Amino acid sequence: MSREQEAVARARKAFRTGRSKPLEYRIYQLKKLQQLFTERQKEISDAVKKDLNKSEVGTQLYETLGLEGEISLAIRKLKEWAAPRPVEKNLMTVSDTVYIQPEPLGVVLIIGAWNYPWAVTIQPLIGAIAAGNAAVIKPSEVCAHTAKVMEELLPLYIDKELYPVINGGVPETQELLRQRFDHIFYTGNCAVGKLIMEAASKHLTPVILELGGKSPCYIDKNCDISIACRRITWGKYTNCGQTCIAPDYILCDPSIQDRVIDEVKKSIKEFYTDNPKTCSDYGRIINQRHFKRLMALLEDSTVAEGGDNDESDCYIAPTVLRDVKPEAKVMQEEIFGPLLPILPVSSLDEAINFINDREKPLALYVFSSDNKLIERVKDETSSGGLLANDCLVHFSVSSLPFGGVGNSGMGCYHGKFTFDQLSHLRGCLIKQLKMEGVNSMRYPPHTFKKLGW
Ligand code: NAD
Repeated sequence: MSREQEAVARARKAFRTGRSKPLEYRIYQLKKLQQLFTERQKEISDAVKKDLNKSEVGTQLYETLGLEGEISLAIRKLKEWAAPRPVEKNLMTVSDTVYIQPEPLGVVLIIGAWNYPWAVTIQPLIGAIAAGNAAVIKPSEVCAHTAKVMEELLPLYIDKELYPVINGGVPETQELLRQRFDHIFYTGNCAVGKLIMEAASKHLTPVILELGGKSPCYIDKNCDISIACRRITWGKYTNCGQTCIAPDYILCDPSIQDRVIDEVKKSIKEFYTDNPKTCSDYGRIINQRHFKRLMALLEDSTVAEGGDNDESDCYIAPTVLRDVKPEAKVMQEEIFGPLLPILPVSSLDEAINFINDREKPLALYVFSSDNKLIERVKDETSSGGLLANDCLVHFSVSSLPFGGVGNSGMGCYHGKFTFDQLSHLRGCLIKQLKMEGVNSMRYPPHTFKKLGW
């Protein structure tokens, strides 16, 4: 038996004991997870620093704070989420008890990505625990230090049979994917997303795919360009552009392009100083492979700002590209790095068509003071999420479903959405063995007379 097979078998055996189901046990596990984040912040931040050069404040702000909020919410709301949900009845069932009972699915496989390694791996786990499941956790091997710390710390706090951590790369993940799960929650790129779905289909296992893509950002002439660019600069260069919902590119009228470049430049300087390389708040590209990929994307575009780089340090300065053509290399794939192309478009119609001609994005950003324009963008496009006049912050709202549509993913999570997606919503109808007379009309022989017609 492989290590992966053993872990899944052990998780299933533990699930079968029924111990993950009582709400008190789920809450106990969630509290232990909370304790991990209170007590082990230093180890967590140190590992993320080694992997992505994120500062300690950055890790708390963008990773663990959100997780702690999600854990508290689940603890507070679990009784309500897990309770039977009465539904409307019809004439035939008027005296019965009819309700939806959320029940655990069984063993969930969680496959995480490297860019926010704690957030994207542990957030699904919170929902899996809350919903009463067992879960096998596969952190991304790309952030090796974090994966190791996760493997060391989680078993010290939560049930190690119900929630094992399996580290490894592609062969190990593929071995896991050969096992039977009751749900697979995958975060990562679209190409691997397809492999996950293919593997899941062998066992008819449902999947949530949290993928990426190119999230567009439209800036209307009619807006405070300085504030818009400050927010876009933050959304783009946080984590060195390695954010699934980072604004990938800007669409704007040619008349404001220079202004946009100036304002982004100003904000880069304000956030990361004249020399981002030495600024503790500016990250690094995760590895040389991605560094090379990003540098190749720059080849046929004009740099308006930045462009400095250092391969030995995986450093690429915050970079802005001007007058970018739709055919440019940087427009052919999700950038996932600190390059911000600007594509001049002559009208809102052109921008909307540009967006609709491409895959449905994970996020769509629009900056304008005109609410009607914002409504138009909302009504005439489709995307996982839509955000007007800001970037990224919708991720932090637990009451909003977070997820993609079309090529950017399927299914959603955060707060109660994770709980529901990792539960089976079982339809229950409880009838008494009384009032048999009422049922006579449905039994043969069928006559109009019996129905009173
Ligand atoms: P990655 O390389 O860490 O891969 C993700 C996971 O897939 C890892 O655990 C890895 O082991 C596994 N994997 C990789 N290749 C595999 C294969 N051939 N077979 C089976 N498993 C395999 O991360 P990535 O894909 O580079 O992550 C970046 C992508 O993730 C971007 O597209 C980004 O937009 C997306 N993302 C999406 C979200 C979201 O919430 N929607 C969040 C973060 C990242």
